[in-house]
Amino acid sequence: MPGVGRRRFCAGWGAAALALGCPAWRSGHKSGSGLLVRGAQVYVEGRLQELDIRAAGGVIVELSRGLTLQGGEHVVDAAGLLALPGGIDPHVHLSASADPPGMEDDYCDNYTHGSRAALAGGVTTIGVMVFPKGDVGAGILPSVQQHRQSIASQSMVDVMLHPVSFTADSDAFAAIEPLARQGHTSLKVFAVVENFERDEAAFTELIRAAGAQKMLTLLHCERHGINKAEIARLVAAGKGGLRHYAESSPVRSEVEAVRAAIKISEETSSPIYVVHLSSAAALERCAAARQRGVRIYVETRPMYLYHTRSVYERADGPLFIGQPPLREEADIDALWEGLRGGLIDTIGSDHAPFTAAVKLDSSATIEKYSAGTPGLQMMLPMLYSEGVGKGRLSLDRFVDLTSTSAARLFGLYPRKGVLQVGSDADITLWDPKLRRTIRPSMIRSQAGYDINIGHEVQGWPVTVIRRGEVAFRDDEVVAAPGSGELLARGPHRPLT
Ligand SMILES: [Zn+2]
Repeated sequence: MPGVGRRRFCAGWGAAALALGCPAWRSGHKSGSGLLVRGAQVYVEGRLQELDIRAAGGVIVELSRGLTLQGGEHVVDAAGLLALPGGIDPHVHLSASADPPGMEDDYCDNYTHGSRAALAGGVTTIGVMVFPKGDVGAGILPSVQQHRQSIASQSMVDVMLHPVSFTADSDAFAAIEPLARQGHTSLKVFAVVENFERDEAAFTELIRAAGAQKMLTLLHCERHGINKAEIARLVAAGKGGLRHYAESSPVRSEVEAVRAAIKISEETSSPIYVVHLSSAAALERCAAARQRGVRIYVETRPMYLYHTRSVYERADGPLFIGQPPLREEADIDALWEGLRGGLIDTIGSDHAPFTAAVKLDSSATIEKYSAGTPGLQMMLPMLYSEGVGKGRLSLDRFVDLTSTSAARLFGLYPRKGVLQVGSDADITLWDPKLRRTIRPSMIRSQAGYDINIGHEVQGWPVTVIRRGEVAFRDDEVVAAPGSGELLARGPHRPLT
């Protein structure tokens, strides 16, 4: 297993007033039979309009006022609700159950568990990281096949796969063209592993090869050497406990990795998507690079918006550990400004579920711990409430951040990410007035906890429609395992 010491490979690198017109939903509803969503405020062409939405064959076929019911159609009365494009969480880790233990099997959610969390949180499409089967140097393509099988039997949401390469050897290069041809138009690379620092020139060429196939490279930006030295220093000083976790990967580690990402993108003319960006300083680097036309895209992660590193002092601090660490208040402010102003393109939960018992294991240290949190379910309700509800984000930005931009970057637009005729009928119906307090009983992930327990939010995804099928309503997931699809995607396209 690559990386620092014996760290586990995971998240960081490696978590109304709605009336249904037809009781048939109770027994599930197939996308082929047609659906009419009535009276919602629908987000179309950049604004809310009171419209009806007709779906047939899984896609939107009409968007208009006063649509009449057609034979065999089911009706969802959505008066008073907002109809927004189904959420896309581009950064999720799930176990593909038959994989050998040691990597993904550390995660406690498979595709069915993850789908439940997604749907209950307004998300209809997820992007899942596919680790190479076995260990470093093993093939990417067999793992993709494993995930394909798990999706076919377990998933209730649509899935895009981000194949991971820990090496830049001939096998990795050989996988690029088949991946692109199969519609897996993204590649995940970890700048935090020792391999990357040792073989940076080879990884640069791998990213060039991916770009040449119109693939987008996702990069985990921390520097191995900096973290290794910091960890050694802390351990020598008797500070190996997890309360010192933030110091084990300082901001400069992220900044130096982002600097490398920018350099590689400039050298190769290949786009790079920085996952889970955590700090103001790293965001500034990305902003400056974008000013001069470098194709650097930025994703941040919910926990960086609501918590600071001070939580690591608490007894339950390990629940908040993901890579990179939580930062300071000033970083939170900068990330919100990035979300508002467009310097941050997407939000991804980096859902990497472990049970609280695993996270709070008293033997864990900064050298060995389970990184990641189960963030998929509450990502959208928290962002809607804290962002749109509190006036920090426009509804336009919310839709861009949670759906449209990810669809564009990952080759899914306009099939996903927009409500228009011809697009998939992935619709999340929000009750903007509903207030709920996040409770453990709501959590669908097998992790059984969420780092936002006790938080009251206003605005809630009450009904979720995936490809014309009601998949979640009345606090119940009603989609069938296996109804989700593995998405074959088009090429990456730059955001304009
Ligand atoms: Zn991750």
